[in-house]
Amino acid sequence: MDPFRLIIDGKKVPAKQCFEVLNPATEKVAGLAPLATKDDLENAVRAARVAQKAWAKETERKRQTACRRIAERIEAHSEELAQLLTAEQGKPLNGLGSRWEIGGAVAWTQYTASLSMPPKILQDNNEGRVELFRKPIGVVGSILPWNFPVLIAIWHIIPAVLAGNAVVCKPSPYTPLTTLRLVELMNEVLPRGVVNCVTGDDDLGPMMSGHPDIGKIVFTGSCATGKKIYASASETMKRLTLELGGNDAGIVLPDVDPKQIAEGLFWGAFINTGQTCAALKRLYVHEDVYEDVCDELVKFARKMPMGAGTEDSAMLGPVQNLRQFEIVRDLVADARGKGRVLLGGDVPAPSSRKQGYFFPLTLIADLDNGDRLVDEEQFGPALPIIRFSDIDEVIEKANDNPNGLGGSVWSRDVTEARRVAARMECGSVWINKHGMIQPNAPFGGVKQSGVGVEFGQEGLEEYTDIQVVFS
Ligand code: NAD
Repeated sequence: MDPFRLIIDGKKVPAKQCFEVLNPATEKVAGLAPLATKDDLENAVRAARVAQKAWAKETERKRQTACRRIAERIEAHSEELAQLLTAEQGKPLNGLGSRWEIGGAVAWTQYTASLSMPPKILQDNNEGRVELFRKPIGVVGSILPWNFPVLIAIWHIIPAVLAGNAVVCKPSPYTPLTTLRLVELMNEVLPRGVVNCVTGDDDLGPMMSGHPDIGKIVFTGSCATGKKIYASASETMKRLTLELGGNDAGIVLPDVDPKQIAEGLFWGAFINTGQTCAALKRLYVHEDVYEDVCDELVKFARKMPMGAGTEDSAMLGPVQNLRQFEIVRDLVADARGKGRVLLGGDVPAPSSRKQGYFFPLTLIADLDNGDRLVDEEQFGPALPIIRFSDIDEVIEKANDNPNGLGGSVWSRDVTEARRVAARMECGSVWINKHGMIQPNAPFGGVKQSGVGVEFGQEGLEEYTDIQVVFS
């Protein structure tokens, strides 16, 4: 098995050591990733610094064209990327899986390439002219999680590059391979050094967040790591975009048709087998429709096949890694004694677990705030369901969480749903759906779910500093 290489200064660079990347469906080695050293990181940052100076001088139009060409490269290699993604991440090829993620990466890149940041004239009169320019920051460090290793890399890299920055990207040690290949494809289009990719263990991230020549960190991952990055980035006053964990509440009002909303609720919660930042992670249902919503959800969930991502029929895959599997197992084991198990919940003990990190789809009713599966982010295929009778009380419960990424309200009365939405403490609220992000709408968390936004004009501007010229 040929090891993958680092991508530094437009070249494929072999590392002295490699590490194994496991296929979560088989627990067999999917590929060998290069273990970057501190020197490799230094080389990548140096290459990025040099490349950025020339890249920033290019016209915006030229950078837009380069981004469009990146979209073409990804599209041309979409099946290869999807297969590799399934092998290392575990998600199904079909449904809302790898092919969908690669298609999303193409669409996101194309849309972002159409954005522009012309100077703004703030004043132009007898007293003078005042102009606002958006200037690139310099070198952007991108630190990625393992749940959407391609799409999230695109979300970090494309706006950074479009704005005139260079990037050093660091994938999660669990899913480095597809991102390495993605960056290799980008290098077929971009000048050398504009996008670099280093892979390794969790020691690399802190070296990046403390690095004096990196001007901004864009990080997607857990709240715990986000807090460490926030602290270490303060030393060099780095710009930060932090997209952190969520514990999104969904509130189901009494006027819904349970059968009609079951599919939307299901995919809101279980997209990517629940391993999605803005998935529905706590479901609050009004008592008038509570049992019916539970029944319809169970009926729908029973029909959803889980299997290895390469199986054509699989709609749900394994949990991506053993560490996450154990987190979900622990939370479900705690919830079983407190609530009513509607589906799944039979947690395989480590000794009797069959091959692959498959965790049964789990629905547990009659839980409440204060139970761990409700209060903590599960990030896996287990959903707690909570009964409510009073709207003020349920809004208080939904907001009683340190996270504030997304939320949803389910009702036939959209006006009433919007009223409830306005009272929810989160960065995005969906009505009669959950988690539907799009490239033209800013996305980010409030409270401890993060700092800043991605996507759209507002997301692009986060890759710039403002300079105002008075003449
Ligand atoms: P994680 O925080 O464990 O790891 C993320 C990345 O940080 C990895 O690349 C890791 O190597 C690196 N890292 C680890 N320690 C570091 C340190 N001290 N300094 C710098 N980097 C370090 O997260 P994960 O388990 O990969 O991802 C799951 C989490 O990500 C969940 O909480 C999920 O909600 C969140 N997430 C959020 C979003 C969003 O947009 N808000 C999207 C996807 C995932």
